[in-house]
Amino acid sequence: MKTYKCYCIDLDGTVYRGKEPINETVQFVHHLQQQGKEPFFVTNNASQTPDQVLSKLSGFGIEAKRSHIMTSAMAAAKYIAYHYPGKDVSMIGERGLHDALLENGVNIVSSSKEVFVMGIDREITYEKLAQACLDIRQGATFISTNSDRAFPNERGLMPGNGAFTALIQNSTGIEPIFIGKPQGHMLEMIRLEHQYEKEDMVMIGDNYDTDIMAGINFGIDTIHVNTGVTSTEEALLKSVRPTGTFETLVECI
Ligand SMILES: [Mg+2]
Repeated sequence: MKTYKCYCIDLDGTVYRGKEPINETVQFVHHLQQQGKEPFFVTNNASQTPDQVLSKLSGFGIEAKRSHIMTSAMAAAKYIAYHYPGKDVSMIGERGLHDALLENGVNIVSSSKEVFVMGIDREITYEKLAQACLDIRQGATFISTNSDRAFPNERGLMPGNGAFTALIQNSTGIEPIFIGKPQGHMLEMIRLEHQYEKEDMVMIGDNYDTDIMAGINFGIDTIHVNTGVTSTEEALLKSVRPTGTFETLVECI
């Protein structure tokens, strides 16, 4: 395999499955770190703060750097701080999004005609959805951390942020701006913050439609692993194939 300077690695289905680590990936990460390469961890999950991600990784034996964690919540907060400076922002979401907005100096309000941002909220209510629809109808720009319709947990496939975003989109007729994979915003933020060239970067993940498409949309190499959502067979049937496909990342050591 070609070597890169910047390895962007998906979390769920690539580094772990729920509460279980994928040991081959843990070995691969250790191998990179022994070469002095700190990988980046790139997740659509907007519920967790970077510190929560770090402590989960630490529990699997991976000591990552906080500056190398990129969640769709952090990316959404940076996107808002950059494109809508000084605007009032209303939100639906959990601590990951709330803390990311505060960390980026965003003014969070209960109702805004300027910007509304949405991330997964496992305590969502009719009232929260109603206020979001009212804000958007009054002109607030509609931003959503990701379009994932479902995500896996130990019970099966649970409704994801994309499902609730679709509800608001359906009711208002307004299309959101999506930040997470398959869009390339998170990869572009890593590139800008750490000054890589695109040819130095690779996106690694289990899900063709999010991870691999994010890399393809952004214009960097991609590696698919057969440890999660998309099987290798399915990945190879796509019209644009990943740059590489592996059963696990231990084959890349
Ligand atoms: Mg995944």
